[in-house]
Amino acid sequence: MTTKERGTTRKRLRDCPVCGSKSWPIAYGMMTSEAQEESPETVFAGCCITPEQRVYPRTGRVEFGVPKWQCQNAECSHEWW
Ligand SMILES: [Zn+2]
Repeated sequence: MTTKERGTTRKRLRDCPVCGSKSWPIAYGMMTSEAQEESPETVFAGCCITPEQRVYPRTGRVEFGVPKWQCQNAECSHEWW
């Protein structure tokens, strides 16, 4: 008999540093649809990891990295790491 672990999805939402809206973590890699159902508040970006270069809005510094968070405010959609 297999016991499926439930409740392991950690709630680790953050506030967008630009607009303060709720932001979801971005998950990379292959995820089963089952895994996605268990993590409803996650952005699934698939296998395409595309590093971004941009000026961080708050500090004005140029950054280069892979977005880890995505703002869920449709008018903002800010991604950061
Ligand atoms: Zn935002």
